[in-house]
Amino acid sequence: MPELPEVEVVRSGLAQTAAGRRVVAVERRAPALRWPIPADLPERLAGRVVRSVERRGKYLLLAFDHGWLIVHLGMSGTIAWSPPGTPLRAHDHLDLVFDAGVLRLNDPRRFGAVLWHDAADGPPHGHPLLASLGVEPFSEAFDGALLFRETRGRRVAIKQLLLSGTVVVGVGNIYASESLFRARIRPSTPAHRIGRERYDRLARAIRETLAAAIAAGGSTLRDFVSSEGTGGYFQLECLVYDRAGEPCRVCGDPVRTVRQQQRATYWCARCQS
Ligand SMILES: [Zn+2]
Repeated sequence: MPELPEVEVVRSGLAQTAAGRRVVAVERRAPALRWPIPADLPERLAGRVVRSVERRGKYLLLAFDHGWLIVHLGMSGTIAWSPPGTPLRAHDHLDLVFDAGVLRLNDPRRFGAVLWHDAADGPPHGHPLLASLGVEPFSEAFDGALLFRETRGRRVAIKQLLLSGTVVVGVGNIYASESLFRARIRPSTPAHRIGRERYDRLARAIRETLAAAIAAGGSTLRDFVSSEGTGGYFQLECLVYDRAGEPCRVCGDPVRTVRQQQRATYWCARCQS
């Protein structure tokens, strides 16, 4: 499943390839992914210029003068810039056609989404899918003080809270285990028991972990977008994730694993308290 670092690398690629270009035509080959793809998209977008490509959580936002095309890659989606005339593959559901190339969405499992948010309805962050998202991990609003403030009275395990995306977006399963290890916090710790100093460490650790994944992804973007829709995580050098029984890279004790709400969690009992 594409996570925030993958989506950010895709955004950065689309900003370089598609931004500033005028849509010539739209080919809509599937009526729906997770939700219907607006049938009037061809009329809406033909002749319009992509002003910028932004991201909110794992949603890509293609900004036009009259609204935003909201794209989510779901479980298996890819969106890639292809040269004109590139042959279609199975599951190529949508093309934005430009003079210089085609922006092509492929999604075998169809859990992704393509939606239109009109400028008349206000900024896209007010869209129902985006309005309840937590803060962006690289925004100024995200720091230890925010984590501390938002977790008073919250007894949920800190890892569950991170995965929920309600306080901060983009900390998926791998990144939650890795960030908590870097911050030396045990994943099962109730969120309200964690003090300000440890939350300062956690906020820094989350940024470092995601930045490392984005940096790793920059060099593998080509593989990611040209894959047959399976995506896959970047080659992040994991400290604990998927290393059960192997020696902790800090203390040498075996890395432990436990399942929290059906998701595998990895941690070091000596380093994380
Ligand atoms: Zn350790």
